[in-house]
Amino acid sequence: MKRSILMPVLLVVLCAVFAPYFLPEYYLSLLNYIGLYSIVALGMVLLTGVGGLTSFGQAAFVGIGAYATAVLTTSLGMSPWLGLIAGLVITGLIATLLGLLTLRLSGHYLPIGTLAWGISLYYLFGTLPHLGGFSGISHLPAISLFGWTINTSQDFAILIWIVVGVAMWLLSNLLDSREGRAIRALFGGSVMAEAMGVNTGRSKLLIFVYAALLAAVSGWLYAHMQRFVNPTPFALTMGIEYLFMILLGGASTLGGAVLGALMITGLKEWLQDLLPMVFGQNGNYDAIFFGGLIILCLIYARQGVWPVIISRVPFLYPQKRNLAHLADGAPLEQRPALPAGESLLVAEGVTKKFGGLVANNNMSLHIKSGQVTALIGPNGAGKSTLFNLLTGLLPLTSGRVEFRGQRIDGLASRKIAALGMSRSFQHVRLIPTMSVLENVALGAHMRGHAGYLRSGLHWERTEEASILAEAKRQIERVGLASQMNEPAGSLALGQQRIVEIARALCADPYLLLLDEPAAGLRHLEKEALAQLLARLRTEGMAVLMVEHDMDFLMGVADYVVVMEFGQKLAEGLPQEIQENPKVLAAYLGGEEV
Ligand code: ADP
Ligand code: MG
Repeated sequence: MKRSILMPVLLVVLCAVFAPYFLPEYYLSLLNYIGLYSIVALGMVLLTGVGGLTSFGQAAFVGIGAYATAVLTTSLGMSPWLGLIAGLVITGLIATLLGLLTLRLSGHYLPIGTLAWGISLYYLFGTLPHLGGFSGISHLPAISLFGWTINTSQDFAILIWIVVGVAMWLLSNLLDSREGRAIRALFGGSVMAEAMGVNTGRSKLLIFVYAALLAAVSGWLYAHMQRFVNPTPFALTMGIEYLFMILLGGASTLGGAVLGALMITGLKEWLQDLLPMVFGQNGNYDAIFFGGLIILCLIYARQGVWPVIISRVPFLYPQKRNLAHLADGAPLEQRPALPAGESLLVAEGVTKKFGGLVANNNMSLHIKSGQVTALIGPNGAGKSTLFNLLTGLLPLTSGRVEFRGQRIDGLASRKIAALGMSRSFQHVRLIPTMSVLENVALGAHMRGHAGYLRSGLHWERTEEASILAEAKRQIERVGLASQMNEPAGSLALGQQRIVEIARALCADPYLLLLDEPAAGLRHLEKEALAQLLARLRTEGMAVLMVEHDMDFLMGVADYVVVMEFGQKLAEGLPQEIQENPKVLAAYLGGEEV
């Protein structure tokens, strides 16, 4: 059995099968609330913990799910199942709209945007006609399923915890898929993900809607469990509490969502009895307590409590992920190999200004297939900037770039990547907690097609096995087979650069751009890299490489371009460059090398 579904199965069996017969009513109803909160928190793990998008507004989506079914089942006498569908559709539409408006906001603006809609939807529930004002809507009907009327706590425990289990299963499948890797790549910003061909705007919107839909399901269950809705449970304070749950439990883990829901719900119950006894009067002391708890958690268990627990039971949760046995699919489709010497990339008059600083001034390049071109020059010469201009990370101030006869300046970096240009970064951009194999598999994102639905249901096994097989092949090619299952962050920096090369190769590019690939490598590793580059060249691949190590360069480069102060200082064969007096004066003889 897959490790990640072990827990959902256990949980559902415990809570849905055994608990209803053994737990007294009070605890059973607590368990049901924990389940309802877990469903929302699971969505937030995807959105916030994994995708890095902080939302304070999830409670509002719970409210939409609850109110939609309340109105339809009471005023219009419809079935709760139609209420569920309506709730999902309305939530989906509103979340799409809010997502389109707010997900573009970066940094702190997004959480502030979520605060705004969290507050406004709450007041909307209280003031829209037909929603019963702040006193709400009552007399909701019970849910019935194939003749089973769900109206006792026992019934709800079964239904709610089955939903929790299904949600965990779907999310765990999704996170282990092509789309899941793309979501995890969002966390550190969108630059690397876009360079791997991920449409990050789409990914953000989809996880946002996904999380909102889970919240709406929770709202639907809540409404029919209470048989009553009013705005209070959907207020901003509850939105903040959901965030507390995942922070405390472990924001990036599915188990953390359930544990967080359990901890916050349990603590609240306990504190409600305890604190008034301590202080001798009633009041909202629990808010102070939770504030303190979150601060302690941020200091002592940054990742939340769940990761601390599972690190103690390595036999259940091994620290290393071994997916290599799944990497046995048929080869992915490949681009046809190009004959050597075919013109690939032509850049002319490329200029980039950062305010007053001219980082690239009238640069030109001509790159052909089967050729290794080295770009050298002192620090600050503008080499990385040129890489960023060619790969679409930065817009050109002026000039033009063509790739295989098509103009690419002005295209988004994922579109350029899709045309067959793949890169590594000077400052390594890997997902440190993900295994080397999964990091490299991200490079093959564009070569797969499975979306959220197929991935969630795990119906993309064939494609996934092919993607993992390709990643494995590239890892073996760059000589890192023994580190395949290690978390990428645990490798030496030089090796992490090599992982980036494997990831770029996974995209099956025509042109590979490597920014200082040999930095931090030991002598033997450099030799291996030189051999790899020579092999790629014979396969017809073009390589453009920034490098400082002249001995290394002279052995592998066919052609050298020298930059200084953003301009081209010289270009030619390695021997010519080594003897060029201008280059010797400006670069080779200087301190930089
Ligand atoms: P190299 O890779 O050759 O060492 P870079 O391309 O990184 O040089 O930098 C060239 C110049 O452009 C440097 O002076 C650097 O400070 C500046 N620069 C690079 N990126 C930016 C940016 N995003 N904003 C402002 N200045 C930048
Ligand atoms: Mg650089």
